Amino acid sequence: MTIDQIEELRSREALLPIAPDSVVERYRRYPPPVFYEEFASAIATVACFIDSMNQALPAGYRIDTLAIDHTFENIGTAGRTGTRLYLSSSFFYLYDGPAVLRSVIMHEYGHIHYDLLDPEQHAELLEIWTSLQQSALFYVFRDGEYSANARVGGHPQDTPEELFASAFNLFHNNEAEIRARLQYVDPRHYPLVERLESLALSDLPGKKP
Ligand SMILES: [Zn+2]
Repeated sequence: MTIDQIEELRSREALLPIAPDSVVERYRRYPPPVFYEEFASAIATVACFIDSMNQALPAGYRIDTLAIDHTFENIGTAGRTGTRLYLSSSFFYLYDGPAVLRSVIMHEYGHIHYDLLDPEQHAELLEIWTSLQQSALFYVFRDGEYSANARVGGHPQDTPEELFASAFNLFHNNEAEIRARLQYVDPRHYPLVERLESLALSDLPGKKP
């Protein structure tokens, strides 16, 4: 950990779940060998969750490799390349409990399910995304704000695909909470939100039990 890295952390302190000094301390405390020993059961739980999410997907779309990224630069990030899912090790030791991990993984599965939507569904999503932008409603779908001390995560404003991944996560994973927050949205927008919800919960054509 260099001074530069600590300075870099200070510059985004508002987005960190804990103070920069504590972040540095946790990264030091959990180098990979210690990490795999200390978090063996949390990693096993994540693997089980991935297996259960895989079941709804056709072959070729299932995550077959979980890669844990220990680099400081990728703190708080998750991503997917093909059937490989990358998770920053920080998700295991910087955030409060397993809810954040669950949310992050569910969001990544939202991207997989997006790939399985048909062309009409993609077109409908683009229309919904454009209308939500005009109504300034993206804030309701920022999934990071629904999970414990995460603060970051979810960027529905970027693309229709990101909106879908966030909505997929929220409607599957935080249903009661998103419904509570939607009570404060102008009811004129409900039909739009319902269309997004039904897309996020749709039984996909490529899906097999
Ligand atoms: Zn995403």
